[in-house]
Amino acid sequence: MIKNIVIVGAGQAAVSCAARLRALSPDCSITLIGDEPYLPYQRPPLSKAFLTGDLSTERLALRPRTWYEAQSIALKSGMQVNSIDRHKRVVILESGEQLPYDKLVLTTGSRPRALPESLAPNVNRIYTLRGIDDAQRLKDELRPGTKVLVVGGGYVGLEFAASAAKAGLEIVIVEAAERILGRVSSAQTADYFRELHRSHGVEILEGVAVLSICDNAGTTQVSLSNGKQIDVDFTVVGIGAIANDQLAVECGLETQQGILINGACQTSDPLIFAAGDCATMIREAVTRRIESVQNAIEQGETAAYSLLGLDIPPASTPWFWSDQYDTKLQIAGINGGYDRTVVKAGTRPGAQSVWYYAGEKLIAVDAINDPVTYMTVRRMLDTQAMSIV
Ligand SMILES: Cc1cc2nc3c(=O)[nH]c(=O)nc-3n(C[C@H](O)[C@H](O)[C@H](O)COP(=O)(O)OP(=O)(O)OC[C@H]3O[C@@H](n4cnc5c(N)ncnc54)[C@H](O)[C@@H]3O)c2cc1C
Repeated sequence: MIKNIVIVGAGQAAVSCAARLRALSPDCSITLIGDEPYLPYQRPPLSKAFLTGDLSTERLALRPRTWYEAQSIALKSGMQVNSIDRHKRVVILESGEQLPYDKLVLTTGSRPRALPESLAPNVNRIYTLRGIDDAQRLKDELRPGTKVLVVGGGYVGLEFAASAAKAGLEIVIVEAAERILGRVSSAQTADYFRELHRSHGVEILEGVAVLSICDNAGTTQVSLSNGKQIDVDFTVVGIGAIANDQLAVECGLETQQGILINGACQTSDPLIFAAGDCATMIREAVTRRIESVQNAIEQGETAAYSLLGLDIPPASTPWFWSDQYDTKLQIAGINGGYDRTVVKAGTRPGAQSVWYYAGEKLIAVDAINDPVTYMTVRRMLDTQAMSIV
């Protein structure tokens, strides 16, 4: 019988896993250990409503404290797990405390990729955005008239830019690849968001790399690969994230830019499972690490079924969203491997969708201000009724 289940990391995937475990197994002991000093919280608002002051820290919590008590889930916040002893089946906390497990779930998330130190040695006011503390520091910088450099034109960089533009900052986004959203979306979706940002006064430089960032007499000077120099007040770096898989590496689990798991969220140790941003799933010879709320929730639940030895519900269609200004992008499916796109106008002004196909097969959609198309395609993908549209 499984008595002790320990979950390392206390974010989106952890809470999803704990909730499903408790629903499936009223008697097991569940312990959630997280190194942040907060109730487990949602990150998406950190680049959106939290930054613009429309959502307080308290409202970020995924569940109130009373929920953990009512569910008999032991929540240990502000405590870091330093190592895992697979032989003794214990996790070892920073304090030295050892917690035994029968089954262990790793949901340690990811961390922002940093700029190489040589590009910006000893520069002040250079930020990344992952947690509440990062977002609070950035919020304190949002003063009208201030100029900010955003390095990277992915979702986090673009969402930060939209929030900063609302607050009256001057913004320059520098993207080294040939276009923004290059790794995640089609050229048509990128075109839409480029125009949206430009219409709000944001400058976007594409195919331009940052060569150096230096503090000089109270200002920060940025040298760019197009030969230009700009002065800014502070810098935000949004150049992707790296899986927090160090604990797994150190205890000898297989990793591949993330903790390697099978379709049942099981790692190379049958007693250890992983879910969310920290995990790379291998399924039908395809490996994929997805950073999204939906993936964290679903994998957290899958790990719960799996570790209890129960049948796993079928996987659902991946989805994701991004809010910038008053525009909502909703994505259903995964567009990897598409060979053509079709752009369709939506029924509302400013609405459009980009449909991604691999051959004749519809595999994903980006729906911009078009929730009807998003829901329609998501259902089509869910039921696999997607061959010819
Ligand atoms: C600014 C921002 C905006 C986003 N916007 C969107 C969006 O609009 N839509 C969307 O779908 N997704 C969005 N995401 C992504 C989404 O938030 C993540 O995919 C999701 O939070 C992943 O959940 P997780 O449980 O895997 O990791 P997390 O929620 O990051 O939780 C992992 C936790 O584990 C802790 N931890 C790590 N190591 C240890 C250790 N050794 N001991 C104890 N604790 C540890 C971490 O500190 C963290 O608290 C956004 C992310 C960010 C940062």
